Formats: sequence, C-alpha cells, structure tokens
Amino acid sequence: MSERFVGGWSALATLLAVAIWLVTDSTFSVAEEARNLQIGAVAEVQVSPQFSVSLVIQRRGRSVQELGKHFLARPQHASRYTRRDQMTIPFPALSDPYKAIVALRLFPEDSLSQDGLEHVVTDERENVAAIARFFTGSPANAGQMRRTGTVGEVSITRNHEILVTIGKEGVETGRLAEAVLKDRGRIREFDRGATIVIPADAMKDGYRAAVLTHLFFSDVIREDSRRHVVTLTIESLSRVSLWFTGTGENWPLLKRASGKRSNDVAKGEVIVIPRNLLGSWALMTEEDISEETRDYPLALTSRSRRNAVNLGQRFLIPKRLLSAWTTLMEKGEDGAQDAAKWYVYWGTRNPPLVYSGDRLGGYAGYRLQRGQALYSDVVIRFTGVVEVAEVLHLSEVVLRRSGFRDPRKLPVNALIKIPIGLLSPEWRPEGDPARLAEREEDTAVARVEEEIRVEKAEARAAEPVRPRGEALRGVTIVLDAGHGGHDPGALGPRGLTENEVVYDIMCRVMRQFAQRTQAIVYVTIEDAQTGHTPSERATIPDNREEHLLTTPKYPNADVVTSANLRWYLANSYVRRAIKTGADLEQVVFTSFHADALHPSMQGCMVYVPSARHSKGRYSAGTRYAIYQEVSERPTVSYSYNERLRSQALSSGFADALCQRLRSANVGVHGRKPVRGYIIRRSGGGEWVPAILKYNAAPTKILVEIGNIRNENDAANMRDPAWRERFASAYVDAVISYFSTQ
Ligand SMILES: [Zn+2]
Repeated sequence: MSERFVGGWSALATLLAVAIWLVTDSTFSVAEEARNLQIGAVAEVQVSPQFSVSLVIQRRGRSVQELGKHFLARPQHASRYTRRDQMTIPFPALSDPYKAIVALRLFPEDSLSQDGLEHVVTDERENVAAIARFFTGSPANAGQMRRTGTVGEVSITRNHEILVTIGKEGVETGRLAEAVLKDRGRIREFDRGATIVIPADAMKDGYRAAVLTHLFFSDVIREDSRRHVVTLTIESLSRVSLWFTGTGENWPLLKRASGKRSNDVAKGEVIVIPRNLLGSWALMTEEDISEETRDYPLALTSRSRRNAVNLGQRFLIPKRLLSAWTTLMEKGEDGAQDAAKWYVYWGTRNPPLVYSGDRLGGYAGYRLQRGQALYSDVVIRFTGVVEVAEVLHLSEVVLRRSGFRDPRKLPVNALIKIPIGLLSPEWRPEGDPARLAEREEDTAVARVEEEIRVEKAEARAAEPVRPRGEALRGVTIVLDAGHGGHDPGALGPRGLTENEVVYDIMCRVMRQFAQRTQAIVYVTIEDAQTGHTPSERATIPDNREEHLLTTPKYPNADVVTSANLRWYLANSYVRRAIKTGADLEQVVFTSFHADALHPSMQGCMVYVPSARHSKGRYSAGTRYAIYQEVSERPTVSYSYNERLRSQALSSGFADALCQRLRSANVGVHGRKPVRGYIIRRSGGGEWVPAILKYNAAPTKILVEIGNIRNENDAANMRDPAWRERFASAYVDAVISYFSTQ
C-alpha cells in the first residue's frame, strides 16, 4: 500500500484537543487530579441476555467500605456484592452518579429534552420492559413509553399477506407516501380514514426488508442464501416462499435446498432460501435497511413481538416517569464523574505505560531505555502509525510534549509523554471507550474462533482420511497483486517497484499451487507481456502491461476504479466457486502488497478485516456498469455476525501464515504482524482497505510482504530465491490452515 496519503494535519488539531480531557475541570487542582488518577479502580458495564445491567469493579486492594461509599446507594450493603477482589453491583443498587455514568456508557445516543428522555435502541438484547425498568425503575411503565416518529403495526392476514398499519395522527401522508411506497399514487387506495394500511409488497425494498427483519429477526443472510428461522406458528413452505421470493410457487425449491423430506415446518427449523430465488428486499442486511430508511425512519411493532424492539428505534419516556438519577445524565459523563467526586474509570498503568497528568493534560508516560529510539520504540509502537511522514510528525509532537527538542539527545530513562488521544486503542487507559470497543471485539472474535475450532474438530472426525496428493481438494483461492498497469505502487531503491515484486510473488504462488495441490486458483490480474511466468531477475522491469481480468478487461488506469473492480471481480469468482459446488468457507482471498513505511520497520505484516471497521455498504450505482462482475451484484454489505466470523477466520489464517513465514526465515514484523485495520492519523483515521471490506470470501487477508524502504526487506525483494521461499511458505500456510490432520 502506498497510494493512500491525504495531506493536511487539521485532523491532528482535533486529536490534541481531545487529549486534554483529563485535567480541564477547574474545580479540581492538579494535586487532586493526581490523587484521583492514583485511585484508579476499574469498572466495566455488564449486560445479561435478558438485559439486566450490572457494574463490575476490580477492587485492586481497595477496601470494601471505600468502594461501597462511592458506588452504592446503600454503602452498608457493600459486602453483599463482593466476591474476593471483585464487586458486582446490580444496576438498581448503584449510587445515582454511577447509574448516570452507566446509562451514558450504554446509551451514548440518548438525549434529554423538556418532554423527557429520548432513548435510541442500540443493543439487540433490549426490549420494552427492560428499557422501562432501566429508566423508570419499573417495567410496568412500558405502556406509557411512546415510540416516536411514524409507527407501524405489522400483521399478517388470512391470505398470508403482510400488512403495516400506521395511525394517521401526526403523520404527513404525502411524505409517508413519497418515502415508503414504491408507487406513491397508491396512498389513496391504502387510506382507511384514521389509519393507513400498506401491504409490505407495496413498500420500497428498504421498508419491506425492515418488516421482514422485524418479524423474522433470527434470519441470517449469507453470500449463497438466506437462512430463515421459522418463528411464527402460521408459517409454511409456500408462505415462506411467498414472503421472501415474491411467489408461493418456489416452495419445492426451498424444500430441496433445505434438504427436507417433509412438507411441514416446525418452529426453530432453518429453511434455506437460495440467493437466486430471493427478492431484492430479502437480501438486505440491517445496515442496508438503516441506510435506506434513514431519511424517514419507520418504527415497527406487532402483536407477536409486542415487547420487542428494532435497532435504531426511538422511544420517548415522559419526564414524570423518569427516575431522579437521569437528570445527572444531562452534563455528560464528566459531569456525572464530578458528582461522584471520584474518577474511577481510568486505570493508572498499562505496562510499560503509566498514565498521569500535568497542566497540559493527560498523558501516557514511557521511560526510554538504553539504545531505544523515539520513532520505533515509542511512536510506532504506541500510536500505531507506520507511514513515514506521520511517524516523523508525531515524533515531533511527542518530543515537544515531553519538553525535549532534539531526538538524538534524549537521555536514557527520559520520561516520554504521549498525549492520550494519540495512543492506539490497545494502549489507552482501562475504561477508555476506544479500548473497550477493541476489547469487546477481541472477546467476540475469540468466541467465534472457539466455535470454529469445535466445528473443525467435528468435521475432522466425520471426514474420511484423504490419500496423499489430494491436498486442498475443494479449496478455492482468489489471488490479487496490488497496483500494476499505470500504477507502479511504492518505489524502492534501484528501480525496485512494488507492483512488479508482488506480481512475481503471486505468479510463484500460482505455480506452487498447481504443482503441489488440487486447489482451484483464480487471479484478478495478468501481465499481457509476461503472462503468469515468474521472473528470475533481481530488478523486474516495470512495464505497464498488467490489466485486471474483468469482463471487459481493465487496463489499470485509475487507482480507485482499479481498487473497486478488484473486489467486484474477486466476489464474482467467489460466486462462481459456490455455483460449482464449493463450500463458501473453503474460499481464501489474498492480496499481495509491499509497504513503504518508516525505514526502521522491517518484515511482513498481514491485515485482516476488523469487524467494527468493516461496517458499511458499497453500491456502484451506474459507475462501472459496463463490467459484468459489477452488474452481477452492484451492492455489497455484510452483517455484524458475518464480519465477526470473517475476522476470526482471517485472523486464524493470518496466524498460520506468520508461523510459516517465520519458519521459512522470511521475516515477519517483530511487534505486531497481524493488524485489524490501518491507522492513518490524517485522512481517514482507522480503516480497512476496500479490497477486504467488501470482499465476499470469508477468509481474506492483505499481505504486506515487507517494507520497500527498509534496506534488508528491499534486498530480499530483489532476491528471486527469497520470493520463491515466500510463495512456498504461503502455500504451506494454506495447506496447514485446511489440514484435517
Ligand atoms: Zn500497495
């Protein structure tokens, strides 16, 4: 990757402003601040599947009495909630400031107004009774909470038609018709006086999809199918066929795809609806829906799910019902912390960093060891930036913040102060939202990894032993080599170019797969002059003959078009593989690149798609319409569960790859070779490259084979034998990843 650097340091000013949060409140002296920081109890909000909320506090040697005084409405009950070094306090027992802090943590989008509290549903586990209990103290108040905006009640008629009934009070009929209906002229037909009754199939796809998601909340949309979970007692194969494919007549195809013998369906059973049968509305994920309905949200209710809520839905809880503590939410978390007079959220240590504050704000302190450099041992390590200009700039910022001028004259044991806002998530203080979000994702991914491990073990037990020479039978590999054509990519010394080196590695990988395995290999790119034959030269001449293998071919003229067409092409290969009987999870995608980073960085790095950073939706619209791969499927997005699974699978593969590269003595980045996203302080923050984000292969990685600006890495790239070792280690990694032994 080299192309991505958007200039301008304006983003940095914002970051520095954020970094000063620790000591800005004038009511606290610096000394008090320091004392509070030293207390450093760590608290985390925990939510059960039934949406019972509690606060878990690590005691770290604090006395039960001291903690009780701060956290509990009735401090004398402290021992009740204490087990060894941990306190678990149910929400109702918390002191008022901490109730407010927990609420602000859980529901950052909620807001108070004169009418009451507007609550936005952000957690799938929420339900109406739980929300009422949380904010008013009693689930009995649920009936008095109002869904705000336009509210529709979903029902199903005797003829299995799905209807949405909307009360006309406060609703602008013209706007409703314009936003929701496929043909707004039909609104008169649906007007029943006090209500408007709209059949779901008369709605635009986004709303029709929202209705299906409301009724059938357990369904999962995959690349090859929708897995519908039978939820209502009135369901049958032909009704499912009607709702999801638009006609009841596809039911025998659903029966076959689900491997069913009987025509009956039972609650909880999974009906597989192949993708080619699904209506466009039945393919939409929750993210698609929220995108499509953003300008005119429609809150849904139904008799069957009276207590249920949809993500993004809003409720107004009238002021007279709200518990007294909710007023503490008004000033935000800092205000609530002030009321508690105790900054408990921020831990003080995350070795080797120690958090502290001075008159310029909070910082993470690091003591420089003998022989260590500011660039690599502080800035690159703790901020996550890798790009040359950013490393230099942040080094300058950190140097000045620490009171030094010359990076070459730093004394051993110098205290280096890194502003908190510049730290990458894993180096933030305990309780910092960025660190919590990252840890939450890590925990979720670890859970999915465990599921995958169990699935693999079961599959292994069920599978017959394969004869030798059948390695990777049934496995599909999609390979990409970055840049090419008019885009040379990163430039190294003496004519070395990223695009030619990584293309050569890709060709070597192809050759090894063909010689050693039965894997089916697709590639995105071809050199019209040299074909897919590897080069034995040290410096491979940079020609401009590489084009993408789209239909029609693309000469790699524009960088953005090229990046997008690559994943469209990759996704087309994935669909082709599935069509010919491949298992989706036996498909691996890899894009080869070479980085141009700060020269101190050395070795291979692998990017996998972090689930929370690959949220989003891409729609080509009329762009690229001439390419067959785009017109096949112009719009792409993935659900959270798909993204989590993908992160878990990809990380597993990335680890296998690093292991093989290490044992082949190829050179892997020492500190953190596998990363979930790229950090660029300017122009983007944290992001996942489009080629991974929108890629349909569940296992997908972007490999940076090395740093073209590092002397040692560049020498490796010029060595054909090293390139072959790299290719060989990659193929070994794929084999070990799918190994049934
Ligand atoms: Zn690149």
